Order: sequence, then structure tokens, then C-alpha cells
Amino acid sequence: MTIKKAGYAVITGRPNVGKSTLMNALLGEKVSITSPKPQTTRWQIAGIHGVGDTQIVFIDTPGVNDNKERAMNRYLNRMATAVYDQADVIVFVVDAKQWREEDAMVLAHIKNVNKPVILALNKIDLLDNKSELLPIITKMNDKYPFAAIVPMSAQGKDNLNVLETEIAKFMPEGEAIYPEDQLTDKSVRFLVAEIIREKLIYATEDELPYTTSVQIEEFKASEALTEINALIWVEREGQRAIVIGKGGEKLKKIGTQARKEIERLIGSKVFLRLWVKVKADWTDDEAALRSLGLE
Ligand code: GDP
Ligand code: MG
Repeated sequence: MTIKKAGYAVITGRPNVGKSTLMNALLGEKVSITSPKPQTTRWQIAGIHGVGDTQIVFIDTPGVNDNKERAMNRYLNRMATAVYDQADVIVFVVDAKQWREEDAMVLAHIKNVNKPVILALNKIDLLDNKSELLPIITKMNDKYPFAAIVPMSAQGKDNLNVLETEIAKFMPEGEAIYPEDQLTDKSVRFLVAEIIREKLIYATEDELPYTTSVQIEEFKASEALTEINALIWVEREGQRAIVIGKGGEKLKKIGTQARKEIERLIGSKVFLRLWVKVKADWTDDEAALRSLGLE
């Protein structure tokens, strides 16, 4: 179908409300990694979605962080602010059960942007009773003149079509921004690094700070097999030991889980080699961030 309307929907909200889960659910594909830990999303990722004659480019954003001490956090905050400029509509995601100070901070910020804001009341699957919804909606209505308030569940894929319709209303007339068969603005290499980082976050639970990074050193694709060498960067020797685990078992588990998902993504057999290296304080070093492609 020829695209007649196209625009940007920026997904925002405090960490852990389900922004990345929502974008993946709307796309029907996993483009942005998710986890129960805050700070999982580190990059701005575009997900491209066609609805009839409309193309919606979703932008998933990292949560804003209050700790301005580190270069990594300063970078995240800069990016979070600049992203609203390109929005045709802002999708403000909150946890229906938990309104927090951080939600108020995000709302205060988007109030100044002067763009239509749709409130996505996420995780309604966690409500004990649907009758809890009405008072929540009334309360939210008082906070801001939202263009729409949509109760939904990203994980349960509940009411996503209503949200999608509300978002589509704000897409301006125009040609497709991306080719219609494209799913994301990121390369396969990028997605591969992110898959490895997601498995790393799950495998190490709370033992590892979110500052770990993954770099793809080699990516050799042939028809039958894709060979990938990836480096996991940690800040300290002790973290290296955590990632590798006793007898290398944790690193092996991370590798196996990542390989399976990468094989699904690229549709061929994958040979994945993982290395763990220590680079002290890279999250506080602007030059190191640039070398890892964070600009
Ligand atoms: P983000 O930091 O806002 O991008 O949040 P994520 O998408 O990474 O999700 C944070 C956590 O919330 C993950 O453990 C998700 O599985 C979970 N989550 C997301 N959406 C829902 C939902 O609709 N219902 C429930 N119960 N959990 C959800
Ligand atoms: Mg996220």
C-alpha cells in the first residue's frame, strides 16, 4: 500500500514502565531489548511500523537518569531531551499501578515541549480488578490535557490496536520516511550486540552494574554460517570474573542463549565467540564512549 501519512512517535517515561516492551509489541518483533532492570535501554532506537497507508516511526528512548556525575548519564539525558524535537506525538508510558516522583519529572519535561501527548497506562494486567481503572484515569486526567488515555498491557498485548489508532491520528501527510520493509534504523551488528547485552543482564542479575558494554569485533557472514566475535567490556577485574563464572559456565550460558536468538534474527547458523575485557571507568570517559559508537 502506498504510504500517504508518515511521522514520528516518541515513546517516553521513567525507567522500567515497559517502553521497550511496548515498542516491540507494536512492531510484532523484538527490536529493543528489555529486562526487569532499569537502564536496560541505552540507545535511541527507531522501530518502523506500517498501519494501512500510515507509517509510524516509533522512537524508543533510554530513561532519564538523575545522576549527572558520569559521562554516560549526561549523554543519556542530552539524548532524551533532543529526541522530543522530532516527535509528531509523544507516547508517555506509565505503570498504571505506580505513579512516582520520576513520572512527574518526565511529565514536567514534556509539558514544555508543546506536542500532543498520549498517555499509555501500561501493565493493566497487574490490576486486581478492572474497576481500579476508572479512578486512575480520572487522576491522570487532572495531571495534563492528554490527547488520549489508553489503558493497555504491552506484555499481554492488550488494547494495543487502540493505542496504535490514537498514534496514527497524529501522523502528518507525507511520503514514507523509511522503506516499507525496513524494521529498524539499526544494523544487524547493532541488534546482535544488544541481544548479547540482554542475555548478560539476565545472567548476571544484580551482580553487575548496567555499565557493561558489548562490541562486535568481527562479523563474517556466509550462506551456511555467520561467525561472530564479540567483546564484553566491564569496568573491573571482579566484574570480569562474575561474567565468566565458575569454570566459564556463565559466559557459556550467555553465549548459548544469545546464539539461539541471533540465529532466529539472521536466519542462519551462528558461531559466536565471546571475550570479556576490562576497561576501567569507560562509562566516565567521553573518548571511550565515542570509541564504542556512543556519540
Ligand atoms: P523500559 O525500561 O521502560 O523500556 O521497560 P522494559 O520494556 O524493559 O520493561 C520493564 C519490565 O516490565 C520488564 O520486566 C517487562 O517484562 C515488564 N513489563 C512491560 N510491560 C508489561 C506489562 O504490560 N505487564 C507486565 N506485567 N509487565 C510488563
Ligand atoms: Mg527500555
